[in-house]
Amino acid sequence: MKHVLVLNSGSSSIKYQLVEATTGEASAVGLVERIGEAEGSLRHEGPGGRTERTQPIPDHTAGVQAVLDLFREVGPSLDELRPVAVGHRVVQGGDRFTAPTLVDDEVEAAIDALSPLAPLHNPPNVAGIRAARAAFPDLPHVAIFDTAFHSTLPPEAYTYAIDREVAREHGVRRYGFHGTSHAYVSRRAAALLGKEPEDVNVIVAHLGNGASITAVAGGRSVETSMGLTPLEGLVMGTRSGDIDPAVIFHLQRVAGMSTDDIDTLLNRRSGLLGLAGVNDLRDLHAAIEAGDDDAALALEVYCHRLRHYVGAYYAQLGRVDAVVFTAGVGENDDVVRLEALSGLERLGIVVDPERNAGRKKTETVISPDGAEVTVMVIPTNEELEIARQAVAVAEG
Ligand code: AMP
Repeated sequence: MKHVLVLNSGSSSIKYQLVEATTGEASAVGLVERIGEAEGSLRHEGPGGRTERTQPIPDHTAGVQAVLDLFREVGPSLDELRPVAVGHRVVQGGDRFTAPTLVDDEVEAAIDALSPLAPLHNPPNVAGIRAARAAFPDLPHVAIFDTAFHSTLPPEAYTYAIDREVAREHGVRRYGFHGTSHAYVSRRAAALLGKEPEDVNVIVAHLGNGASITAVAGGRSVETSMGLTPLEGLVMGTRSGDIDPAVIFHLQRVAGMSTDDIDTLLNRRSGLLGLAGVNDLRDLHAAIEAGDDDAALALEVYCHRLRHYVGAYYAQLGRVDAVVFTAGVGENDDVVRLEALSGLERLGIVVDPERNAGRKKTETVISPDGAEVTVMVIPTNEELEIARQAVAVAEG
C-alpha cells in the first residue's frame, strides 16, 4: 500500500486527501477554510465518519496542525497507514520545473522565487509546503506543478508575438495550467480508446470554475488556452479569458481604473459572474429558466468561445481521436457539452443527446457509435495523479 498525503494549499484554504496511489482509493478527504480569518472552518471525512467544526486558524502552519489533529481524532491513523510521501500541488513551475520534483530548501526557495509569475498562487503553495515539511520532517515532499505537463509546448505555441528581449527578461510566455488534470484525462482517454497515449490525438476541455482546453498529440501537450497566467483563454466563472489587451489601456485612460482595479475586474468580476451576476452554471441555468436575457447571452458566449477553441485545436492537430470534457462543468453540464460542440458534424464531432443527458459520475462516451471522433466525459482526479507522481519521485 502506498498512501500519499496530497495537499493543495490556497491563500485561505488547504484541501487534502490521503490517497492510495495504486488503487486510487482516498481514505480521507478534507478541507481547511478561512485561514487567517477570525474563525476558520474544518471538514474531514474518514473511515470513522465526517466531522465539521470551526476554530481559529491563523496561518498555514496552524492549518496543517489542525489536519494532523483530525487524522488523530477521526482517523485513519497516519501511524498505521504510514504515508510514503506528501504530494504538493504547485501552480507555477516556470521554465525550471518541467517535472515533479523532490522538495529541499533550495527547491522551496526556487518555487517562492517564481511568485512574481503567480502572485496569488505560489506564495500560499510555499506556505503549505513549509508547514507540511515541518509537520512531516521524515517524509519525502514532492512538488507537482500545474505547468509541467505543458513544458512540451512547441515554441510557436508558447511564444507571444511581443518584443523578444522584454519577453525573455520578464519570463513572458505561455505556460499553461491545469496540467495535472489534462495529463490524467488525456491518458484515460487513450485507455478508453484501447490505445497507447503515443498513438492518439485528444482535445481535453477542463471546465471548472477555472477553465482551460488543451490539444494533446501523442501524449504531449502541444497547445493550451491558459497563458502567462490562468486568465487567458476560455470564459470562466469569474475570469474574462481572452480579451483585446488594449481593453486594459482603454479602462486606465477612460475609466481611470488602476492596474489593481483592472486585475480584480478581469480575474474576479468577469466571466459568467460579470455577464450574468452568477459564476455557477447551476445558477446560470436557473436564471435562464426565469427568463434572464443576460444569463442566456452569458451561456452563449461561454459555448461560442469553447467551440472556437475546439475548431482551432482541430486545425492544429490535423487529426482528432477524442474530445473530452472534465471538471465541475464538463462532468455535470449536458447543455454546455451539447451546445459547445454543435455544428461540428463536418469535423466528425457529434454528440448523441441521449448519451449526453445528465451528470456523469463515471467515464462515459457521449458520441454515437461509429463516430469519427469519440466524445467523452472523464471525471478528473488530480489528487490521484499527484499521488502517483509523488510516489514515482519518492521511489526515485
Ligand atoms: P470545479 O472547479 O471543477 O470544482 O467546478 C466547479 C463548477 O462546476 C461550479 O462553479 C459549477 O459551475 C459547475 N458545476 C458543479 N456542479 C454542477 C452541476 N450539477 N451542473 C452544472 N454545473 C455544475
